[in-house]
Amino acid sequence: MKARLLFFLLVMSNSLLAQLQSPEQFFGYKIGDRFTPHWRVVEYYKHVATAVPNMVKLQQYGQTYEGRPLMVAFVSSAANISKLENIRSNNLALARVSEGSGATTDAPAIVWLSYNVHGNEASSTEASLLTMHALVDPSNTKTKQWLQNTVIVIDPCLNPDGRDRYVNWFTSIVGAQPNSNLDAREHTEPWPGGRSNHYNFDLNRDWAWQTQVETQQRVPLYNQWLPQIHVDFHEQGINSPYYFAPAAEPFHEVITPWQREFQAVIGRNHARYFDQEGWLYFTKEYFDLLYPSYGDTYPTYSGSIGMTYEQAGGGGGGRAGSAVQVASGDTLTLYDRAIHHYTTSLSTIEIASQNAGKLVSEFSKYFNNAVTNGVGEYKSYVVKWDARDAMRLNALKDLLSKNGIQFGTGRTGASQRGYNYGTGREESFSIAANDVVIPSIQQKGALVKVLFEPQSRLSDTATYDITAWSLPYVYGLRAFATEQRIEVRNEASGVTKVSNPTTDAYAYVVRWNGMPAVQLAAQLLQKGIKVRFNEQPFEAGGQTFDRGALIILRTSNQYVSNLWGTVRDLANKYNVQLTPVSSGFVDKGYDFGSARVRMMQPRKIALLTGEGVGSGSAGEVWHFFERQINYPITLINLNDFNRIRLSDYDVLIMPDGNYRFLNDKAAAEQLRNWISAGGNLIAMEGAVAQLARQEWAIKAKKAEEGETRDVYDALRRYENRERDELANITPGSIFKVDLDNTHPLAFGYPNYYYTLKQDDQIYEFIKDGGWNVGVIKREKQIAGFVGSKLQKRLQDGLLFGVQNVGRGNITYLADNVLFRSFWENGKLMFSNAVFLVGQ
Ligand SMILES: [Zn+2]
Repeated sequence: MKARLLFFLLVMSNSLLAQLQSPEQFFGYKIGDRFTPHWRVVEYYKHVATAVPNMVKLQQYGQTYEGRPLMVAFVSSAANISKLENIRSNNLALARVSEGSGATTDAPAIVWLSYNVHGNEASSTEASLLTMHALVDPSNTKTKQWLQNTVIVIDPCLNPDGRDRYVNWFTSIVGAQPNSNLDAREHTEPWPGGRSNHYNFDLNRDWAWQTQVETQQRVPLYNQWLPQIHVDFHEQGINSPYYFAPAAEPFHEVITPWQREFQAVIGRNHARYFDQEGWLYFTKEYFDLLYPSYGDTYPTYSGSIGMTYEQAGGGGGGRAGSAVQVASGDTLTLYDRAIHHYTTSLSTIEIASQNAGKLVSEFSKYFNNAVTNGVGEYKSYVVKWDARDAMRLNALKDLLSKNGIQFGTGRTGASQRGYNYGTGREESFSIAANDVVIPSIQQKGALVKVLFEPQSRLSDTATYDITAWSLPYVYGLRAFATEQRIEVRNEASGVTKVSNPTTDAYAYVVRWNGMPAVQLAAQLLQKGIKVRFNEQPFEAGGQTFDRGALIILRTSNQYVSNLWGTVRDLANKYNVQLTPVSSGFVDKGYDFGSARVRMMQPRKIALLTGEGVGSGSAGEVWHFFERQINYPITLINLNDFNRIRLSDYDVLIMPDGNYRFLNDKAAAEQLRNWISAGGNLIAMEGAVAQLARQEWAIKAKKAEEGETRDVYDALRRYENRERDELANITPGSIFKVDLDNTHPLAFGYPNYYYTLKQDDQIYEFIKDGGWNVGVIKREKQIAGFVGSKLQKRLQDGLLFGVQNVGRGNITYLADNVLFRSFWENGKLMFSNAVFLVGQ
């Protein structure tokens, strides 16, 4: 090829590249004809950013567990894009994050559109492509006008791993033409489905907790922008009409009249477009605003108008495919689904533009009020410091920092009155040096109130999710909420770092009170360093140690090179305090040579997973081992249970799930024999319920006489049918459980634990051959909503226990101690089951 021709072709292809293309021109198919995989979506956004650089700025903010890029596109008029950073910093000053002088409300409104957080609700990323093009298309004069006073942030896919899991699967099994018959295999997704991320986590439950890398990278970016409007695009079951704001009750009481009012304004604008097309929709039902970790509530509690839009389609397991026949007899296509989300995307931007001035000034008012008056009746929350609680207090500080919540220390000594989370009563308390004070008078005041309030006030009990998440319970910390305003000094910005001694020692001792200790133990075991733990409290080196403290002795580890250097490096890495001890003769309790001091043997661990197992529950366990304590685990498909050699493992974990093999006598017997021979089975939630049907396991508590239905219960009003059911359920509330903390399953805990109760299961006490470690008695403390009939039943029973079977054990964890990985105080109990029980 002649050089001149090559040059000509290069110029040609460059000018072609620079020419803005529609998604259809770019991909060679019409949106809706097929699913667009993530790497092609990324290419289109790059194409648009190259073609219209003065209106679009792309920013990659991270990558997923599987290595896919996470990105946002900023879209606005050329004038706004050229001063994007000024707009951002002005907005943060209005939000009182920074005290920039001269912040002006004469600024564009920021609208953030989050697509496809649930991977198998796959139409919304397609809609994002249409939205992106409509905003920059030179022939679309309307959008150009809107962009004069709005900045649009488009996140085309919050969960690329989950979406590609769905899209790749679908594309690999669909025929030449999609089959709209619901029986066709393309409407039944295989385990674990594309809704969740790599570790089977629901990213739309993770905003506040930030346990997953996708959220950990996105939320800081979000908090650097704080848009006035945030939309989270979803899909629901295939037969539902479109859902948009206003949301359903219960609204959380911190939601302001303006936030409610503007939801309705937006909803009416959408309705106009849907009416024109004759499309069906509903509002004000089902999707409430309460649990703080959603893509609508988290932004709402951060000053935004936060909303969820739901299109019929991929909800409930990717049933829609790319065309499906629905109950009404119509065919729902991927094109329909994308067009509906595209329509509400543009309608949202239009109404934001029409109200930009008001949106920005109300936004500014919201934060001025937060920093002046605060949010809620409690003005300060005080979390008490104790050496036993230091690890979990650090974890709490880390969570506060991740959410931009300010905290510090208070003036010591002065007596205060406040609500004691531990007793549920108003009491006096005083502030000590290391106590953490969190004021509700601050920029994030609404989020502070929602995360700390002892009882969420529900305007309606029919909620979509758990009703209790108060952080002192989640972290197992002693705390007070007070109406007094406590001045915060020495504003802290992060965790407290330990400083470890460099001295040689007879032994090092570590308190067993939180995840850092577990992380350290997990690494020591893998390095072949021998670790012991004590069964009885002892005093040494001038300090008292509770049960479960780790003891690392020089004597058993004399062949480990640079023993103390290795231990110290790991302890520093995980921020674990080491206490050196110079003698094996302890001041009080059993000496280190006693049989009461036990070896923590490394364990080979298997997790049942796959079809039949709850994917979320299995994912929480998987994530715990791989990402939190970095300890090896083998994931085994439940279908392969019969062919694995159980004797290769010390611990077998059965997460929540449906274990049909237990109905097979021979298979159940095989499991029992393995336990008898010394195996340690850990059964969680539904697995406990199913084991309870085996004659050799614990028994579920049956409903007692007298709590069965009243004869007049039959005379229910038809219109109350959904509400009447509430008497029998808990959507997720907190119960105080009595713990026998002399048993290894409860080492590291006080004599109580706050459990998240999500079902109506409770078990009979183990009469012999086992230990009732965590029980609910008649007198109990509850936070959150529990149906009146269920309240009576959930008492005098077991939730956590250990049954001895031959030389082995079954640990029953009837409630989820790893819930969404944010229930911090449950993680130690799970660790006890894995590393301490049966040693
Ligand atoms: Zn969804």
